Parts: sequence; C-alpha cells; structure tokens
Amino acid sequence: MNLMSEITLPDRKDVKEEDTWDLSPIFAGDELWDKEFHSIRSTISDISKYQGQIGSSVPSLARFLHLLDDISRRMGNLSVYAHLRHDQDMADVKYQAMNDRAQRLYVEIDTATSFLVPEILSRDEEELTALLDEEELKFAAVPLRSIIRNREHYLSQREEKVLAMAGEALDAAPRTFSIFNNADLTFPTIKDDKGSDVTITHAKFMGLLMSPDRRVRREAFQGVLGTYDSFKNTMTSLLDGEFKSRTFTSQVRKYPSALEASLDDDEVSPAVYQNLIETVREFLPSLHRYLEVRRRAMGLDELHIYDVYVPLVEDFDRKLSFKESNDIIIEALRPLGDEVVGIARKGFNDRWIDRYENRGKRSGAYSSGSYDSNPYILMNYEGKVHDLFTLAHEMGHSIHTSLSSREQPHIQAEYKIFVAEVASTTNENLLMDHLKKIWTTPDERLYLVNHNLEEFRGTVFRQTMFAQFELEICRRLEGGEPFTSEMLCDIYGDLNREYFGPGVVVDDEIKIEWARIPHFYYNFYVYKYATGYSAATDISRRILSGEEGALEGYLSMLKAGRSKPPLELLKMAGVDLSSPEPIRRGLEVFDSLVTELDRLLE
Ligand SMILES: [Zn+2]
Repeated sequence: MNLMSEITLPDRKDVKEEDTWDLSPIFAGDELWDKEFHSIRSTISDISKYQGQIGSSVPSLARFLHLLDDISRRMGNLSVYAHLRHDQDMADVKYQAMNDRAQRLYVEIDTATSFLVPEILSRDEEELTALLDEEELKFAAVPLRSIIRNREHYLSQREEKVLAMAGEALDAAPRTFSIFNNADLTFPTIKDDKGSDVTITHAKFMGLLMSPDRRVRREAFQGVLGTYDSFKNTMTSLLDGEFKSRTFTSQVRKYPSALEASLDDDEVSPAVYQNLIETVREFLPSLHRYLEVRRRAMGLDELHIYDVYVPLVEDFDRKLSFKESNDIIIEALRPLGDEVVGIARKGFNDRWIDRYENRGKRSGAYSSGSYDSNPYILMNYEGKVHDLFTLAHEMGHSIHTSLSSREQPHIQAEYKIFVAEVASTTNENLLMDHLKKIWTTPDERLYLVNHNLEEFRGTVFRQTMFAQFELEICRRLEGGEPFTSEMLCDIYGDLNREYFGPGVVVDDEIKIEWARIPHFYYNFYVYKYATGYSAATDISRRILSGEEGALEGYLSMLKAGRSKPPLELLKMAGVDLSSPEPIRRGLEVFDSLVTELDRLLE
C-alpha cells in the first residue's frame, strides 16, 4: 500500500453503509453473537455423554450425529460472522478477539469429538456395511461412507492421538517457510522506470515484472531469484522437511505413496493426475506459438522469462462504476438462466458485497458464507477491468454456495475445493464471451484475448508444470536419490526449458524459482487449479454453443454440493476427467485464442 492511499483511505466507521455488507441477518448485534457462543460452548458437555455409547448402539450414533450436525451448523454462523467482521478492519481488536474465540471453540469441539471415528470403526466389516442401510442414519450417509471407505487408513485410538500430538511438529516446514518468506526475507533495491529507488517486495514484484522498461524487469527478476539462491541450502532443507513429513504420514496411514494419500481425499486416482500432465504437455507447441507471437508483438529479438508478464496492451484504462460492473455481469450470466441471474441480482441488491477498500481491510477478494447465511463477498473494488473479472469470479462461488445450500441438507452441502473453481471460472468465461460482443475496438479485443491467454498460461500450463515438479521429486525420493539443491534445480530448470520451449531464453536464474513458491507446501494441491479451469472451459463452451443438456447438467452439479465424489459431480456436468478429452478441448480453446491474437496483432 503506498503512502498516498494510506492517507486518503477512509476509516471503517466512515464507509457508507450501502457500500458494506449487511451481516445483520446472521447476528443482529455482537451481543447476540456472544450469547450464541456461550450457548454452543455449553453443549460440549452433551458431547462427552456419548463417549462409549456410539460404538454399539445405532440409535445413540444417530442422535450423536444429529447433535454434531446441529453444532457444526451453528458454528458456521458463529465463525463466518466473526471472520467477516475481523476482515473488514483487521486492526479492530474487538473482532480480532471474536475471531480467535471462534477458532478456539472449533478446536475444543474437535478435541471433544475425537472418539467419533474410532468408536464407529470398532465394528466389524459386516456391521459397518450394515450401518449404511439403517433408516435412522440415512441423513448422514455421506460422512459415514467416507469414514467407512477410509477405514484401513485410520489407526488405533492411541496412535491417532500420538499423530494429532505430532501434528504441529510435522507442520514445522511450511510454517517456517511462511515466516521466513513473509517476515525475514528482504530483497534488493533497484531503480524503477523513472530512475527512483524501489525496494522489491513480494507485493511489488509482479508489478515490476510487468514494467515496460526491460532493465527494470531484468533487475527485479535477478534480484528476487538471486536472493533465494543465496539461501538455497535453507530452502532445500525446508522443502526436504515438507516431503519427509508427507512420506511419513502416508506410510503411517498405509498408503502406497504420498501422492495417493493426498489424492485419495478427493477420491481421485493417480491416473487423473498423470493424465493432466500428459495432455497439457501435448499442447506445449501451442504455448510455444503463443510465446513466439508475444515476442514479435513486443518487437524483441529474443524473449527472456522476465519478458513474458508484460501486458500486450498498455493503458487500457476503462473505469467502471460498481453499478456498471453489476449490470455487465447480469447480462453476461444470462446464458445460465433466470435462477442464476436471480441469485446474482439478489447479491448485488441485498448487500452481500463489501465493496471498497478502507483502512485495515483485508486485501484481495473472496466469497464466504455459512449454510444459513448469505454467501458474502469481500472485495477492494477500484473500477478496473480486472475488478470486473474478480467480481464475476467471486459471484460464481456465491452462486454455487447458494444453490448447494438451497438444495442439499447441511451435512452434505459444502462443496469440496476440487470442484470449487469450476463455477467461478465458468462465470469468468461467460463474462469474457459477453465482453467480446460489446467491446469491439481492436485495443479492447486485444486486451480481452491477452487476458484470456494469460489466465490459461498461469492456471493450466504453469500449475501443471508445478504438479509435474512435485511428482518428479517424489519419484526421485522413492528411487532413493538424496534430496539436494542440485536435484531440485535440475528438475526445475529442465521443466522450464520444456514448458517455455526453444523460442524463449530460459535464464539460468529460473532454476531456483521453486524456492519462492508457497504451493509446494500444499501437498499435491496445484493440479486442482488446472483441472478446475479445464473443466470450466469445457462446460462454458458447451453452454454457450447451446449444446443440449449442457446447462441442466451444470446446474445439477452445482446443486449437488458434496453429495457425490468430485469426479462424479463433474460427470453430471459432462466432464469426465478420467479421459484426456475435457482437458484437450479446453486447450483447443487456448490454441484458437493464440490464432486470434496473432490475427489481431497483424
Ligand atoms: Zn476462486
């Protein structure tokens, strides 16, 4: 945040009410929150009454699961209210404390209910399967099935306790990385394009890489990566700790590999992961073609890695009022039908959205809500085209939440991360399609195509490269290779040469870039960005072309919450990720965008 905006930003209390979210439907006042907090807390003693009961009696188990479902539903309201209030002004100690109290209550409840899984699994095979046929337990079929499905990976009560106690120690690597990266690490000072000194920070880095002045880009690139390189032994040791922790946990839980342990949570097989990587690699020539078009458009003899982030259209400065953005999004979502448009309209009219920046407000944007609340959106809207896309994206999440809460009982309403980015990306795609119809000057068109291509490059190609990096490290470790910085830099350098292709100068500094990527501490997580984006591209293309059943299938997926495993949900929307076809169809869209960019630049 620069000094100017720090001075001109309003305090939270001075923001116009109509520009803020209305949280009164959750709790009409903070004192009601407090009352509910104490009321939920007093139910913890009810939980312990069930200990020793639910392993043998089906009626006890059913009553207990109802109790837990009720507590978790109420906790949802409690924690959503606290964290939204906290995020609107993070310096406000009152809401900081409220948020902490909600988090601690979650931990207390988790600890109190720790006998749940071991007692359920104390039954023999036959009794377990029979549970699913019990009429009284039908409402809890989804969580029960998941516990039973994973039974061989749960340990004895004592071992589970030991693992839980070791949890914090096993998390040391990501925690240390995060503190080192965000608090301790400093980057050099360089001269910006006006000749003024600028000290590089994480927040400024991307802006510097987008500078029209090549010297600035190069110095920022070398400054950041050079800094990581000077800590390469520490960074290697941290990542080593992360991978050792993954391997330890997966072995203790009797999974054949760390990859399988991670994917199993979404009921995804390693073949899906492999399939993504192979299909994306098939399309690397399209990416290389894009980079070549870029090089020509930028008028450069050779394209370096530090050249690829520069926007191809400068100063596309279209300011949109919040109301204009709302109207554009409503029009863009028309192909999804009245039900969806109605939700978006309600969101814009009923103050689901906290619009503008104020002093102390959390940066970025998100959609968040409980089962009973509105799906609220936090934004820092400034009127740029980028903000329009962000708003459409977050509204996608809110529409998904709204539909699944409306159609599913609480216990199976909350959708999983694996499918979460589908609705948000579909919204962005529909917005893109609509804007291409109404913004038709060559510059506008160029801006949109470039935006679309960069999303693809950042989400599908780059994340898949990350996924391949994680997989390759695991393979080497399982093959008995020692974990060294040379191994990491070799793998990362080779992958960059493959993904950027022969037309790009792959600067030597890039091989340490793995050291600055937080996602390598997320345990085989990044591939979900690429599969989600590909699925959404395929879905929106079919909806827009009017393919029969495409819209109905998509809506039924959104309404299904987490009632089925993620891959089955996507199948409802016509996407079968066990085959390469959906990813291929998504990447064909990328390829045609490259052709369009090439034509526009001529
Ligand atoms: Zn999102």
